[in-house]
Amino acid sequence: MIVLKFGGTSVGTAKSIKQVVEIITDIESPKIVVLSAVSGTTNALLNISNQIQGQLKDDALLSIHQLHHSYLNLINELYTTQKYKERARSFINAKFEGIKTLINNAEESTVEYIIVAQGEIISTNLVQMYLEESQVASSLISALDFMEIDENNEPIIPVLSEKIQPILAKNPNQNIWITQGFICKDSKGEISNLQRGGSDYTASLIGAAIQAEEIQIWTDIDGMHNNDPRYVDTTFSIEEISFDEAAELAYFGAKILHPQSLIPAKENNIPVLLKNTFSPEAKGTIIKNNSVKNGVTAIAAKDGITAIKIKSYRMLLAYGFLKKVFEVFEKYQTPIDMITTSEVAVSLTIDDTSNLDDIIDELTPFGKIEVDTDLSIICVAGDFSQNKEGISAKVFNALKEIPIRMISYGGSNYNTSLLVKTTDKVSALNSLNQGLFKEKMSLV
Ligand code: ADP
Ligand code: ASP
Ligand code: MG
Repeated sequence: MIVLKFGGTSVGTAKSIKQVVEIITDIESPKIVVLSAVSGTTNALLNISNQIQGQLKDDALLSIHQLHHSYLNLINELYTTQKYKERARSFINAKFEGIKTLINNAEESTVEYIIVAQGEIISTNLVQMYLEESQVASSLISALDFMEIDENNEPIIPVLSEKIQPILAKNPNQNIWITQGFICKDSKGEISNLQRGGSDYTASLIGAAIQAEEIQIWTDIDGMHNNDPRYVDTTFSIEEISFDEAAELAYFGAKILHPQSLIPAKENNIPVLLKNTFSPEAKGTIIKNNSVKNGVTAIAAKDGITAIKIKSYRMLLAYGFLKKVFEVFEKYQTPIDMITTSEVAVSLTIDDTSNLDDIIDELTPFGKIEVDTDLSIICVAGDFSQNKEGISAKVFNALKEIPIRMISYGGSNYNTSLLVKTTDKVSALNSLNQGLFKEKMSLV
């Protein structure tokens, strides 16, 4: 069994849905197909939810009408027969009527989760209907029947496995199973989700739960590139990359993968193949254990970083100082990304600033606190275990014009992180591209 995940642009138009179905039917092995919402839908639903919660009833009705209309157009283009056009229309009409009724439930805490989940519920139902119209045998299974997170918002793979296996066993000869990415139930049985971009995570979790042979992530680009194609023009696709390197890149901003999505695949040693729906013949990227050692493999950037410096002549050398600092972040459940220390100061970075004021209040007795916002972490990923190529020298040389606020090297063999102002990010990514990939680029 394999798992295939198609992202928002892959199911974004009638034409691309037909392309997805061609890809699914061309692959012989039995498969679970995880679908995202049609591109733009999750943002539109979040906007509707905000309007409902803000009591902007007329704005919400207008947004609901616009999104509803876009689906009626999609239905017209996707289905050939009147029977299926009718069936899909009445499904969509009922869905949007349902969303309208939520306008009167604005105060319910789960309203946002219920609304935002409709994107994946709609896309999977429309694709299932299209498969039926095309007379391709498939079963639609609801992720809400098996995808669950615990009190800490963590999915538990054995629980997932226990829930999904009997569902699959009901229909042992089925070749195509369709299900929703992103959505899940929480520990209270309420509808929830795996955070933005979470369909990749769904695919990897299902892969681990059924011990799949492979997980394929189909998107709108031919695999993992060596740099962020949104900011750098001359990027190229990487044929093969290790889990550790790819996980660092995903965590530090390579949007092609949800930050946590590689963990279940890596732990279960299931290769992940990144492929382009719009160019299926392109090789894409294979992510696996014990991949070739490449030196520097790729660069990514993560925005929205805040740096906190604690300067203390009295305490830093004192035994237990760092422990006390870390305890404050632990108390407010705020992960730290980078950390550097000197004899008199410690600097660290966070991206979740929801408890920043409380954190600063509790750190103030330890020393003088400085906070810097609007920063980006640049992650240079690769295999640094032997450092044969003088990588650090190349990194610093490439960035000689750009002020660097913090550097983290040696924390793992797969990553060097640099903290810069977000306004310097694009030029840092481009300078590093020139400095680190010049030879490789000339071969592309
Ligand atoms: P999907 O909707 O299929 O999940 P995403 O938009 O989430 O697709 O991810 C694909 C996008 O990720 C690409 O279109 C590209 O702009 C962006 N991206 C950012 N960094 C990288 C990278 N290093 N390699 C490939 N794509 C990247
Ligand atoms: N639809 C969700 C989002 O836009 C999940 C996903 O596409 O992976 O974030
Ligand atoms: Mg995505």
